[in-house]
Amino acid sequence: DRRGAVTGMESILIVGSGQAGVQIAVSLRELGYRGRISLVGSEPHAPYQRPPLSKAFLVGDAEASSLDLRNVAFYVEPGIDVHVSERVISVDHDGYRGTATTDCGRTLTFDGLALATGVRPRRLTVPGADARGVHYLRTLDDAATLRRALSDHERGPGTVAVVGGGFIGLEIAAACRARGIWATVIETAPRVMARAVSPEMSTTLERAHQETGARILLGSTVEEVVTSDGQVSAVRTEDGQLIECGVVVVGIGSLPRTELAEQLGLRCDNGIVVDEACRTSVPSIVAAGDCSVFQPAWAPRPVRLESVPNATDQGRIAAAALLGIKPAPQPPPWFWSDQGALKLQLAGWTAESDRRVVRRATGSAPLSIVHYVDERMVGVEALNSPHDFSAVKRALVTGDSFPPEAVGDVRVHLKDLLATTQR
Ligand code: ADP
Repeated sequence: DRRGAVTGMESILIVGSGQAGVQIAVSLRELGYRGRISLVGSEPHAPYQRPPLSKAFLVGDAEASSLDLRNVAFYVEPGIDVHVSERVISVDHDGYRGTATTDCGRTLTFDGLALATGVRPRRLTVPGADARGVHYLRTLDDAATLRRALSDHERGPGTVAVVGGGFIGLEIAAACRARGIWATVIETAPRVMARAVSPEMSTTLERAHQETGARILLGSTVEEVVTSDGQVSAVRTEDGQLIECGVVVVGIGSLPRTELAEQLGLRCDNGIVVDEACRTSVPSIVAAGDCSVFQPAWAPRPVRLESVPNATDQGRIAAAALLGIKPAPQPPPWFWSDQGALKLQLAGWTAESDRRVVRRATGSAPLSIVHYVDERMVGVEALNSPHDFSAVKRALVTGDSFPPEAVGDVRVHLKDLLATTQR
């Protein structure tokens, strides 16, 4: 009984005030929960949107004030306490209710607990990596510091060295070129974004970035950050190249923040393990967003998704689970990355596909690649092809599959392959 469950709880603690944490709070209210909500975040800012940090914000097209996640009025609504600059350092829980202590010395009691603790950037550990001028990009403060460093660098010699050619690295390289700053991407793998896209898309992205003047070194690793008076002056690659640079930006992946979950004895394995309702191994505790790992129906092994759509979907699901309401199933995943004039959009899960159909010619945008497993359509990679992206994304929701022969014919609009009711 929905109402019984909703009124059974008086106070819910949400640890983490990123996209997932905020979504849990919003969804709790939408589902009729009227009790107290405490949303605790360690950053010194009201909840904000992260995606623009490596895009519009770095280029200077967006200001911090435009990044607010929810209208400020939401947080002053009675019963929602947002605590910024405060970190939950320990939690006790008896399976039903518990107590949390923060680094401000405050104690919060709760009878519902949600963990939305997110990730931290993986650190570069080579000699010199702690020097001034080495940047990571996760928070608004990181982005503001990097933006200032890029402004200073605009007049300086050398390039910006970007370590890692994944989502963050390529977005930063594009932002640098948009500001007229030279950028050199150093990527260990033999191609960029290998985790997320197929070889044809990697090649196309590499060419497009090179055309803007970015340099991309593949199969290359930084062996040392060379410093002068504690400030970066160059990076040395494994094969002995010395790249003169005043700024280094590291984007080599993220690690889930699982400290509290581990302290609570929750099962963790590259993230906080949750079921399809975002329940952890202690079912009354939920986890959502980048920190959680789950076994979806569409992948052969558990996945941890770092994306805004996953954070909002799981936030909704976790809120329902807290209130004892059966959640709607999680929709297929999707991702996007804006890299200057390149808009990459991914839908579905393509890592295990056994066939892919390339629409248009590899090497330049627009390009889209549709993936299949056993003749069933499972996803799309679309570069400056928003119509192909949205047609496949919509088909995946209903379980539709487009015939490969039709997909391979660029004269066919994928939208026209959708069931008539969906167009
Ligand atoms: P992020 O969100 O940080 O961009 P991704 O997984 O999308 O994470 O990309 C990280 C990229 O960094 C991958 O392409 C990976 O191959 C690359 N990488 C990992 N370690 C290193 C390293 N030490 N030097 C250069 N590239 C690295």
